[in-house]
Amino acid sequence: MSTRPTSEGGSPTIPSRLPPETPDLHGAYPRLSAAEIETLSAHGERRFVDPGEVLLREGEPSTYFYVLLEGLAGVFEDYDGRRRLIRVHGPRRFLGELSILTGQVEFVTTAALNAGEVLAIPADRLRGLALRQPELGDLILRACLIRRSLLIGSGAGFRIVGSRSSPDTQRLRSFAARNRLPHRFVDIESDAVAESLIRQLGVTPDALPIVLVRNHEVLRNPSNAELAEAAGLRAHGPQEEVVDLIVVGAGPSGLAAAVYGASEGLSTVVLDAIATGGQAGTSSRIENYLGFPPESPGQSSPSGPQSRRASSARASPSRAKPANCTDRMAITWFAPRWTSRSQHGP
Ligand SMILES: Cc1cc2nc3c(=O)[nH]c(=O)nc-3n(C[C@H](O)[C@H](O)[C@H](O)COP(=O)(O)OP(=O)(O)OC[C@H]3O[C@@H](n4cnc5c(N)ncnc54)[C@H](O)[C@@H]3O)c2cc1C
Repeated sequence: MSTRPTSEGGSPTIPSRLPPETPDLHGAYPRLSAAEIETLSAHGERRFVDPGEVLLREGEPSTYFYVLLEGLAGVFEDYDGRRRLIRVHGPRRFLGELSILTGQVEFVTTAALNAGEVLAIPADRLRGLALRQPELGDLILRACLIRRSLLIGSGAGFRIVGSRSSPDTQRLRSFAARNRLPHRFVDIESDAVAESLIRQLGVTPDALPIVLVRNHEVLRNPSNAELAEAAGLRAHGPQEEVVDLIVVGAGPSGLAAAVYGASEGLSTVVLDAIATGGQAGTSSRIENYLGFPPESPGQSSPSGPQSRRASSARASPSRAKPANCTDRMAITWFAPRWTSRSQHGP
């Protein structure tokens, strides 16, 4: 698709000739029915958008869930000083991807391609709605999971620049892959653009690895916790909040304990040093683990199908909780209210 010079953080330049709408080959871009849009309309408001208006911006959490009612929207990714239009969506498709449910930052930018109209629903209301309307929630969750896989497969997102033999580069790549964060690895030893990229950024080889976010922010050999922060993985909210249950370890056992705790009405926090899924999230060879749903079609990931199953498990709409017990415990969220406290009495 077309490329244009990037306008750092601003509105993307709209190509004069728009490509056709991206086909929905894998169920990632369903069109919502009139009834589904009516249901969603009760929770948001319609508003007009101008050509080039940014709706979801790379590096920022999505505060709204948008359904396109009229016009076209484009998904743009920044790389190597260029902004590429990688997807085009038309009426009755919703915008964004898994971040809308997890609270992570956006990994690409979505903007109106022409004058149109959107239905804008606050993201936290969408999460509640998805729990109360399971059919609609499942449709959105499934599409979001496939969109995330497609983004990962296309190499969109932040850049990890370093040597494949460096332990810190391996750590960052593993952390990104285990958490299914869209990214691309730029190998200083074999990637043609690597040398000019680090020269342009004023980074010396001994300062590698770096993580390049939004094509201009450089994190120098960040810790897992710092990368988690940049990706919006760390839970937001008051750090001193008292909770009923803290589960350390988000492998299958920890996740099961958290789900049972939360379903009994306990406010629950899960802490994990790396990612949800534990050992079961690291291998594609696990085929028979209790509670792991079948794969969604159209998904492909460098980290294997089992990791996708772990993602399905954690991607249920959830209420984020504070983390930060130690710097190692970088990842925390997951407090699903499968039943509310009020249903169980005080
Ligand atoms: C290659 C492979 C194939 C397998 N195949 C199968 C199979 O086919 N069928 C089957 O039933 N089982 C299989 N297993 C085993 C299965 O994956 C494990 O039994 C299961 O993952 C154990 O779950 P768990 O939650 O107890 O622990 P783990 O999965 O080990 O999870 C522990 C979690 O705790 C976190 N953690 C640890 N210490 C800390 C700390 N101090 N602070 C914060 N977080 C911490 C870790 O990061 C990890 O995420 C396989 C395992 C592997 C490695």
